[in-house]
Amino acid sequence: MSLPEPSEIASAARPTRLLAQNREMRSIGAWNWTLPAWAGRFDDGRTYNTCPSAGVCRSVCYARNGTYLWPTVRAKHQANLKFVLDDLDGWTTAMLAELSSAKFTGAWVRIHDSGDFFSDDYLAAWLRICRSRPAVNFYCYTKEVDRFRRLVEPDPPPNLLWVFSFGGTQDAALDIDTDRVADVFPTEASIAEAGWASQEASDLLAVLGPRLVGVPANRIPHYLRRLRGRRFSQWQAEVDAERRPHNQNSAADLTERRAA
Ligand code: SF4
Repeated sequence: MSLPEPSEIASAARPTRLLAQNREMRSIGAWNWTLPAWAGRFDDGRTYNTCPSAGVCRSVCYARNGTYLWPTVRAKHQANLKFVLDDLDGWTTAMLAELSSAKFTGAWVRIHDSGDFFSDDYLAAWLRICRSRPAVNFYCYTKEVDRFRRLVEPDPPPNLLWVFSFGGTQDAALDIDTDRVADVFPTEASIAEAGWASQEASDLLAVLGPRLVGVPANRIPHYLRRLRGRRFSQWQAEVDAERRPHNQNSAADLTERRAA
């Protein structure tokens, strides 16, 4: 009996299908690619962080609650991430092969139900995939502002749309006058009051609707208590201000008072 090659051992744990479709995605003709949310540890002891620019969002992360925590769901998401980390070229080839199916022609793929573009190499792999499958439409939310400014904005693939989302450590780099941005609001009514456009009717509105995108907060009681009626952008700004060195705060206060 011959022993399996190391690559065979690795691939044994690899997901055979990479894209999934829940009810919400099916209703809009979209498919999902998902990683485990934020930070964690694999069974083999390795640690990871798929959302290096997550800020306050991680305290109320939808993907760190409910069914996402079921062992089978978690194992599937971790298997996705392991594939990417252990064999980025093999994962890219597998994703391209899956996307060559006729059912994806004209369809939408949401890159990340949870997780984010955690490295330049991983984002570059997605950019190659988008360019190699021009008949497929891709979209994503991201908090990786600097990475997108450097690697995507100068020459974006025509079939990739994205929206920057508030609640991350790079919020201050966002410009609501020019960027497409999404903010989580405490209620649907508060989105309308602010003059933003809700994506509640279809997730695709986040990239196809008006540029200022409102997302109603998940109705998870302990998360709503933490949110305390704030938008993610407000909550993150409060945290950023608390972390700013005292003298920088004083200078900012002085500038504000002069401007007032
Ligand atoms: S970026 Fe998204 S998936 Fe990651 S911690 Fe924040 S809300 Fe969760």
